[in-house]
Amino acid sequence: MAEKATRSGTYRCPVCGHRDTAELAEDQESAVIPCSYCNTPLEVSSRGADSLRFRVQVSEQPARR
Ligand SMILES: [Zn+2]
Repeated sequence: MAEKATRSGTYRCPVCGHRDTAELAEDQESAVIPCSYCNTPLEVSSRGADSLRFRVQVSEQPARR
């Protein structure tokens, strides 16, 4: 399998306040992931290549993985 470049960063769930890490593919603007604590689908997006913190908002769509 070809390796895909990913960026990992932290997010803070706006619902329960839990902090965790998530990964975005290099070519991905945003991703929908479930909060690892309360399972709310969260849309995380990168603030830029240098930032280790993702912008996060509650997603309208369910998490895809
Ligand atoms: Zn949460």
